[in-house]
Amino acid sequence: MAIHSFSPDMTTTPTTRMSTATTSGGRAGSVPVDTARPWKLPPPRTYIFINATVVDPVAATVVPGQIVKISNGAVDSISSFVYTTDEATVVDLEGRYLCPGLIDCHVHVAAVPGGGGGGGQSPGAEAALLRQPWVCGQMLARGFTSVRDAGGAGVALRDAIEDDVFPGPRLFLCGKALAPTGSHGYADAHAGGGPPCCGSESAALSVVADGVDEVVRATREQIRQGAAFIKMMGSGGASTSPADRPSSAYFTRAEARAAHEVAASCGVHVTAHAYTPRAIRHAVENGARGIEHGNFLDDPTAELMAERGVWLTPSLVAHEAATTGGGGDRRPSLAATPDDQSSSSEARSRSLLEAGLKSLAVAHKAGVSICHGSDLPGPQQAEQSREFALRARVLDAATVLRGATTNAARMLGQEARLGQVREGFAADLLVLGANPLADAEVLAEPERWCLAVVKAGRVCVSRWDEMPEDVHRRAW
Ligand code: ZN
Ligand code: ZN
Repeated sequence: MAIHSFSPDMTTTPTTRMSTATTSGGRAGSVPVDTARPWKLPPPRTYIFINATVVDPVAATVVPGQIVKISNGAVDSISSFVYTTDEATVVDLEGRYLCPGLIDCHVHVAAVPGGGGGGGQSPGAEAALLRQPWVCGQMLARGFTSVRDAGGAGVALRDAIEDDVFPGPRLFLCGKALAPTGSHGYADAHAGGGPPCCGSESAALSVVADGVDEVVRATREQIRQGAAFIKMMGSGGASTSPADRPSSAYFTRAEARAAHEVAASCGVHVTAHAYTPRAIRHAVENGARGIEHGNFLDDPTAELMAERGVWLTPSLVAHEAATTGGGGDRRPSLAATPDDQSSSSEARSRSLLEAGLKSLAVAHKAGVSICHGSDLPGPQQAEQSREFALRARVLDAATVLRGATTNAARMLGQEARLGQVREGFAADLLVLGANPLADAEVLAEPERWCLAVVKAGRVCVSRWDEMPEDVHRRAW
């Protein structure tokens, strides 16, 4: 077995450079197939990335000339010198950036595209479920190695990805969102159809719960089914109806506190869909540790959130997509208030987008920890990465990146293993062709800039010949 070493001097000498074409993947073939779970992938390879420029969202800097070794699905070492063997695959990342895998904190993978079969508008629960692996694969291809599902995804999907049945992001889910009668999510919970935000044309993303007893039962039920957090419909929605206004705050104090008490006792947090200061304050004062959307956030409410360490997960691209239908229409806002029923839903979405951009600045100024979200339903999920470009209009690039890396990891309680390129952390990595700390819009164009997506040490997606995908299934 030959042993090689790499140092900055050696790696600048062309004769010592190696590529995937000249080295072996090593151990995979020697590991017996797990006959009980024959879909399990072989152990991940050992990779050594030389000449890597490591993106550090914490320090908001890039560190060039690094040698990053990953093995057994984790970052083994980051140094300027490393020993290796023929079993390691060496990839020269000269001129490229090694970025932590991205985390989208507000998705609905169950809100699948495609409509219903047989001429229907909504896919049934089974059709929706069968499409979810495809949706997950697309999110992974956009560079999202983890996602937080804010209503609809089930534990079987999460576990199937974890078990290698098909590729997808790490999934952190809340089960179904809790929605009181008549609220945002109510129609979805009853009819399998509803508004585009936190509801969808697919199987229900929400469950109705009225009164303390039902809220307690529903909270426990989501936790029983593997929820990593609890989602409550804390106000009306973007697609307003007369009874579903963004300014409404639905749950009573007793209901909200009951959910918080049950969740906290099980070590999970409550987050609330809420748009207005009134609804946000109601949620925060009754135990919520997260706010979804928060488009009309004002200074005093932002200061309350910062003081209590409450996370904000905006989802601006959902409003842009609702405004343009994905077609790029940029007409000016027509709706002046969130509850303006005289305007069209497109005008209301435009109003929500403009308000949401302002709320980002308000939150950032107050010191609120901002997380990345998209909240897109159905075919609009194709616009998922555009959220980065919208945020880049009002936030610096480091803040944009932290929202999808370190802040997201902390909200998920995963700050010791996700969100950074760091020794001992999961090898969830992106190889980028440009620096996302110089221009956050790099993250908005994965097809152009994201050369490879590594999750748990495997090259799951590649757009670069020097780093081919290595998720190879074995015959059974
Ligand atoms: Zn929502
Ligand atoms: Zn949502």
